[in-house]
Amino acid sequence: MTDTARFKGIAASLGVAVGAARVLGREPRRALDRRIEDASIPSELSRFEEAVSKSRAEIEAAKQELIERHGPTYAPILDVYLLMHGDALLIDATCEAIRNDRINAEWALSKVTERLKKPLLEDASSYFQERARDIEHVREHLLRHLRGEQRTERSTEQPMVLIAHDLTPADAVHMLAPPTVGLVTEMGAGSSHTAILARTFGVPAVVGVGPVATHIEDDDVVLVDGFAGEVAVRVSQDERRAAEQRRDRFAAFLEAERSTTAITRDGVAISVAANVELPNDVQAALENGAEGIGLYRTEFMCLDSLEPPSEEAQLEVYRGVVQAMAPKRVVFRTFDWRGDKGLRAPDLQARERGWLTAQINAVLRAGTDGSVALMFPMVSTVQEFREARALVDRCRSELNDERARTAEVPIGMMVEVPSAALLAERFTQHADFFAVGTNDLAHYTLAFDHRGDRSAAQSLDPSVLGLLQRTITAASDAQLPCSMCGDLAADPVALCVALGLGYREISVPVRVVPLARAVIRNVDLRTAAEVARDALECGSAEAVRALVLDRLDDDLGTLWKQQGIV
Ligand code: PEP
Ligand code: MG
Repeated sequence: MTDTARFKGIAASLGVAVGAARVLGREPRRALDRRIEDASIPSELSRFEEAVSKSRAEIEAAKQELIERHGPTYAPILDVYLLMHGDALLIDATCEAIRNDRINAEWALSKVTERLKKPLLEDASSYFQERARDIEHVREHLLRHLRGEQRTERSTEQPMVLIAHDLTPADAVHMLAPPTVGLVTEMGAGSSHTAILARTFGVPAVVGVGPVATHIEDDDVVLVDGFAGEVAVRVSQDERRAAEQRRDRFAAFLEAERSTTAITRDGVAISVAANVELPNDVQAALENGAEGIGLYRTEFMCLDSLEPPSEEAQLEVYRGVVQAMAPKRVVFRTFDWRGDKGLRAPDLQARERGWLTAQINAVLRAGTDGSVALMFPMVSTVQEFREARALVDRCRSELNDERARTAEVPIGMMVEVPSAALLAERFTQHADFFAVGTNDLAHYTLAFDHRGDRSAAQSLDPSVLGLLQRTITAASDAQLPCSMCGDLAADPVALCVALGLGYREISVPVRVVPLARAVIRNVDLRTAAEVARDALECGSAEAVRALVLDRLDDDLGTLWKQQGIV
């Protein structure tokens, strides 16, 4: 193949990578199903048991490697895989299927995993979809050992971009280290374990690209744009050089911007906090000079089981984060694994209500160690938010009855459903603060089929901007703190519109914090306000983008060009 090919996916880990392709398996392995004789059952069982023990050893080794490289934070991702290797529903059931159905181990394993996955896949939430993916990943490992296949090893010669159908987290630990510089997967979502690991290891990644492996050969030059979610293969020398320069510039820029301030040209200080998913990110947030954690996505701590950690276990994690960040504020958001499908607070089952109570208790207790706020996602009606607040009050008074110390924690809400933005003024009477989630707001305003379709570019649609304006105006009139923590604030072009609309607090992914500050230093708020006013009158997101690029070119053109944003 000689022609240039380009693909679009989900930007899962920021940065630019240039390297030689290493294609890891174009399709999920297909099991060779066959029936077996009674006499072969014992040998088939021992073949399966051997595969289980080799696979377990492989994952145990990956876990040790992960702990050595990044401490214990991420070990639960692999613990869940190890647990599955001793799980009666998976392992014993496969042995039973071999015995009772007289079928080979591969077939038995597939039957059992399909059965286990079914109820998970029927649940609309991305959380349970991810748990089904965990089962698939364990099957992948077991099948590999049943077939006696070797795991692909990293070559040691040149920078390498991995191209995979899907990468299990255990393989990610092994493969996302030098000389691997980038990752492209056909499957996956920005919230998958593998995407989390790519972000942790600082490996630029684009996931969910769709069928791509058949278009790429080993050693093809691949460019991974972890900002735009774009992949280019077999590009010209010029394009390759430009990408390499952009990669190096971004690395140098991050280094130089670590401790800068965020004051606009006309002297207004803007607060730039970080969005965090796991405790390890806290150190990076501090290193990048974040002014706090504006969004702590707590659902990411439920990686290792179908249930969240206990109140005490959560308290320990939250305390660590709060103490590390003190005196800077940490805004914890209650578990939001159902946001993608629009299930909201009233949909909570009794069991989930118990989980929520444990979480609220843990946050209220952790609040005594520093500065903490709590917010609810996907709030769509005033009644729903009032109930959420009442639940917090109940939790607090019960804790106080038990003589547990609690803090006065501000209770806020995410504005990320159009109904909340439309009635923002009414919500100001009930919430202590707003945090605007442009990802879901754009998704529900524009009715995309999948949230994966969303991007900061689409969030610039004038309909969404109208809702953003409504929200900030209501908050300002009521003197209610209002930050923006959706990805619109992380887009260096769109951020100017947010500032122009009046947003003065933002929270962005940790690695974007320095870039956001650089944009802010180059903005004049009066000009940005004029541009935002005109943007509201535009006909499309594309027109808004073109308008911003044109009107702010004098102030920001150099920065945008330097960073390859335009
Ligand atoms: C959002 O919807 O913009 C947001 C910040 O929440 P999440 O991306 O976690 O759904
Ligand atoms: Mg959201």
